[in-house]
Amino acid sequence: MLRAEGRANVWRAMRKSIVDQERVSGIGLTKEELQRYSRHLIMPEVTIEGQKRLKAARVLCIGAGGLGSPAALYLAAAGVGRLGLVDFDRVDLTNLQRQILHGTKDIGRSKLESARDRLRDINKLHDCYFSSENAEQIVADYDVIVDGSDNFATRYLSNDVCVFAAKPNVYGSVFRFEGQTTVFAPQLGGPCYRCLFPEPPPPESVPNCAQAGVLGVLPGIIGMLQTIETIKLIVGIGEPLIGRLLHFDALKLAFRELKLRRDPQCPVCGENPTIFAPIDYDQFCGARNDEASVPGISVQELKGKMDAREPFELIDVREPFEFEIARIDGAKLIPLGEIPERADELDREQTLIVHCHSGRRSAQAVRLLKQRGFAKVCNLEGGIDAWSDFIDPTVPKY
Ligand SMILES: [Zn+2]
Repeated sequence: MLRAEGRANVWRAMRKSIVDQERVSGIGLTKEELQRYSRHLIMPEVTIEGQKRLKAARVLCIGAGGLGSPAALYLAAAGVGRLGLVDFDRVDLTNLQRQILHGTKDIGRSKLESARDRLRDINKLHDCYFSSENAEQIVADYDVIVDGSDNFATRYLSNDVCVFAAKPNVYGSVFRFEGQTTVFAPQLGGPCYRCLFPEPPPPESVPNCAQAGVLGVLPGIIGMLQTIETIKLIVGIGEPLIGRLLHFDALKLAFRELKLRRDPQCPVCGENPTIFAPIDYDQFCGARNDEASVPGISVQELKGKMDAREPFELIDVREPFEFEIARIDGAKLIPLGEIPERADELDREQTLIVHCHSGRRSAQAVRLLKQRGFAKVCNLEGGIDAWSDFIDPTVPKY
């Protein structure tokens, strides 16, 4: 096995494309392509050889959202021969502030269909939830993976399957006004995601875009940086962001670079790995199973109880600023973080129905209240989002 210092130089020693050379040599460029890519071809770092590598390359974008949009658009424009997109989501009005693959006319459509209309030469669409059952099979067809996912379950899954398959995983994430990117590639001398974070954080501690917000242009910048790294790995030029993490602060307009090290104890790429197969991360990342594990009530059932004037108390565990944007009439606001000290304000004999934005934080609140002896408490499935979708469209979505 290579020692750590040895590994750090693998890429430098290799100095070649991650794309199989035999595949590249079977590729030619048409007259139209020579003209289309002429601004690449005239650079001695790229030339016809580099453009052929791009044409021979197979890139998978996980997610056709904020990060995946600019990545897919520019990868297609750069002449990447095979571009795969995996996403199961549909376009929502709140996506359009940053997900530039999609337009107003696409609201309600599958993100993949919308992407197909925008992208030239898109080859493969994987209309599925990227899961432990299909991840290895999907990744197997590609040379490099651009991770544009927005949740920990997918992030850990894409990391692990990329390590198993020895494929570079170009990572990006955004949060409010900040973003970061790096290339995870243990086979090229760098760490993997688990070298830094061996286990996912508890679900309730991690706000997503819907809870924390994100400056619309920010995923554009991070997604483009991921694209640059992808192109460098394919063409075989420059110093890739392996073992380095680039952090971007939009408010200060400052980039900062952090050194990343491989962890020899890493459970997936370390010397004595303990993870050999994709795990069903949802079980501990929370998103769906977390909600399934507490008693729930649908928005239709809640409406029925309201219409029948049944006695219950509706508790909203979102933040005050969210309450300002949208609320369900009659709800009492107790932000999730205040539940432990304010639980005594609530009537233990009363039926309590708890809601948040999408049902995740409220599931956590239901668990907290049950621990404190509240017996008649349940979670509003889908949260105020579902209420707006199915019961009262005058409640704004955000
Ligand atoms: Zn690792």
